[in-house]
Formats: sequence, structure tokens, C-alpha cells
Amino acid sequence: MIQRVLVANRGEIALRVIRACRDLNLSVVVVYSTADRDGPWLKQADEAICIGQGPATESYLRRERIIAAAEITGADAIHPGYGFLSENADFAEICRECNIEFIGPSHEAMKRLGNKNQARGLAMKANVPVVPGTEGLIESEEAALKFARFAGYPVLIKAAAGGGGRGMRVAHNDASLISGFQTAKQEALAAFKDGSVYIEKYIEKPRHIEVQILGDRHGNVVHLYERECSMQRRHQKLVEESPAPNLPSKVRDRICDAAVRLVKSAGYYSAGTCEFLVDKDNNFYFIEVNARIQVEHPVTELVTGIDLVREQIRIASGEKLSFRQSDIQQRGSAIECRINAEDPDNNFQPCPGLIQKWIPAGGPGIRLDTHACSGYRIPPNYDSLVAKLLVHQPTRDDAIKVMRRALGEFTVEGIKTTIPIHQKIFNTPAFIEGMVDTTFIERVFYGHAAKLGKE
Ligand code: ADP
Repeated sequence: MIQRVLVANRGEIALRVIRACRDLNLSVVVVYSTADRDGPWLKQADEAICIGQGPATESYLRRERIIAAAEITGADAIHPGYGFLSENADFAEICRECNIEFIGPSHEAMKRLGNKNQARGLAMKANVPVVPGTEGLIESEEAALKFARFAGYPVLIKAAAGGGGRGMRVAHNDASLISGFQTAKQEALAAFKDGSVYIEKYIEKPRHIEVQILGDRHGNVVHLYERECSMQRRHQKLVEESPAPNLPSKVRDRICDAAVRLVKSAGYYSAGTCEFLVDKDNNFYFIEVNARIQVEHPVTELVTGIDLVREQIRIASGEKLSFRQSDIQQRGSAIECRINAEDPDNNFQPCPGLIQKWIPAGGPGIRLDTHACSGYRIPPNYDSLVAKLLVHQPTRDDAIKVMRRALGEFTVEGIKTTIPIHQKIFNTPAFIEGMVDTTFIERVFYGHAAKLGKE
């Protein structure tokens, strides 16, 4: 049984995991970098251990220091949160060798699904549709050109090890394909130490719909329905919701079944997400599995009433899922706005700095996951997410109204945030009608189609 959890993360997700541990009566240790020494979440843990300097490569990515911190403090499990080491199969394996429970999937399942190209192969075997693309990795410009001429432009070059939109390039013709092939490889090599790429057909104006999965170590896998995540900037999510608006229930059922089939075939347990693109005719295509808890997990928690982080910890302790598929229901409508320290008027440039005034939204129907407060200085080293503002209401119309009220209440001074763009989104008729796709924000508010990387 797990008794003491070490949280190998920071910010809102560190606080989220600390809270889950408290709710389960577990003691909790958190590691931090010198840039986070004043992080308000540190006070909520039983113990906090400094593991190095601000750059993540000197702290949150230092596996040996995190393991040492777990050993010194007697932690018997590590929760990696999202980002950092959360999808690092080697780290999960090291944890096992050190007799520390890694709160996540097995390193074997992570390896099977972590590489996007390999995951495509598994999906095809499990009879899950994938975006038309190259069969394997693309080694040469000639092979890239051959596929593009066969599939037709536009195409998308993708890093097999990719994440966070890095190592992705859209190409509309031979010239942009050749330059994009090289830059995607270089970017992937720099970001992931793996320059391998493959190519997919670029789906025009798709929706991004993903399915939350939970599996235990006894072979039980359930889905917790879908999240609509099409409202993106630079191909990274800004608004997420469940249920997905205007999605026929038959399509929803087929996507959810496909997700369960895929993760079952990979021998997956813990929480995970299968991401899909859905085209205008409601054809759906698998793109990747995220083998971790995701930023937007609270959307699913609100509609299903299931605490995903608590379940992750229970599963890591070897417990069986306490519910069956038929017990899980999607109730009402939940929407999340990511409040990032970014300037929506300047290409979403990160704006770290001192929060002079912070008056959060509250009241009926609101959930706010944040580590920020007045007087907190956001360090420049990490992701710009400062808060997740969620609403849960019986209908989507009500959820939109409550979100408008909440965004109006939320006051942040000293830094720029994404609140103003959210206010625009929640007053835009096409969004209110649920007519969303991944190009929406850039098309409607910035007057150009979404671009994947620089062409
Ligand atoms: P990452 O892991 O880097 O975030 P994903 O594979 O999850 O990359 O894709 C991120 C986003 O990029 C998707 O939500 C979608 O907006 C866009 N995208 C990915 N693949 C395609 C594709 N084949 N066609 C069109 N857009 C795509």
C-alpha cells in the first residue's frame, strides 16, 4: 500500500496531486527548484525538498535527484504530474528498480504508446482508424515527396517523439515540404533527442476530440467519455469541454469504444487519453495517446464525478476499479478556460512576472485549480499556465453564461493573461453554437488560418 507520495512537479498540478493525497490520508513530499522556492503549493506538503536550479534540466528533469529525494524522505510512490518526466518510460523503469511505485502506466505500455509512429501501428492493429500517413518513419526527402504526391497536399510532418506542438510542420507544396522536413527533424532532435519524423495528411479544419481512459492492473479498462479540445492557439489547447457539442451520439460511442480497444491492446493501466481528429463528415482518426494525467482532466471529473488523480493513486496501489462502464455517466456540461500568463495581443508571448492583484472568480458552479495568488511572482522558466477556470452546469448554454460571469469577476493585475481572449470567445456566436474546429481562434480572432509551425 502506498503511504507517502512524492510529487515530482510544480504549480497547479503539484497542488492538485497534494490535494488528492490529503483526501486519501497519505503523507506527501514535494520537490522544487530554486526558482520555485516561494511557490505557494510547497506549504501544503508535509515536506519540500530542493533539487536544483531553475532550468528544468537542472531540477525537475533530474531523475537521480528525484529518486534520491524519495529515498531520503521515505516516499514509496512518485506522482509525475504532466510534462517533465511524466511520459519518460526510462524514469518509470528506474522507479520500479528502486521499489518506488510510479503513479502512471507501466514503462512497457508507455514505450508501446509513447512513440507516435509506433502508436499508429498499434492503433491500426486494433482496428482504430488513423490519419492517412506514411507507413513508417521517413528518412529521406525523396520518400517525403513520394508520399505527398500520392496523398496530395497539404501534408503534416510530425516528430515521432513529439509533444507540445514541437517538431510539426505543415507543407503545401514540394518546396515547403523539403524545408519543413529538415526543420522538423532539427527541432525534434533539439527538443527530444530524437529526430525521427513521419508524415500525415493534413486534415482541413478538424475538431480535436479526445477520450479519457482509466485502467487497473487487473485488465479492466473503462472510458470516461470525451473532451472537445478544438479551441487552440498555436495548436495548443485554450478551452476544453465535455460533452463535445454537436457530436452525434453514435460517433461519440464509436470514438470511445475505439479508445478502449486501443489502450487494452497496449496492456495499459492508470489514467490516459486517446486523442482523435474528427473531420467535417464526422470521420475520426487517432493521432496519439497521452500516457499521463492531462491538464484538462478536471472537465471529465466534473461531468463524471470521478476523481481521476485519486483513482490513479488507487490503481498504483493495485486496487481494482470500483466502477464499471455502465456506472459512468456524463452529467451536464463542463467547460475549462486555461488562464495563461500570455499576451493574446502579441502572439501569445509568455508574460511571467509579479502578480500585483489576484481576485479569483467564485460562487455557484465554479471550480478553480490554481497555485497563484496576489504577490506571487511567476518564474520565467516554466509553462505559462497559472489557473484553470472551470464551470459545471446542467446545460452548455448555462455553462457559457456562468463562464462569462466568472471571467468578468476574475481580476489579475501585474501580468497579461488570456482572460480577454476567453471573454471574446464566450461572446462569439459560432462558439456559442458549438461550431468549433482547431483553426477557430486564429481564423476568427486573428484573421488567418492556423499554422503548424513556421513554413
Ligand atoms: P503534440 O503532441 O505536439 O501536441 P498532436 O499530435 O497532439 O501534437 O497534435 C496537436 C494538434 O495539432 C492537434 O490538436 C491538431 O490541432 C493539430 N494536428 C495534429 N495532426 C494533424 C493533422 N494530421 N491534420 C491537421 N491538424 C493536425
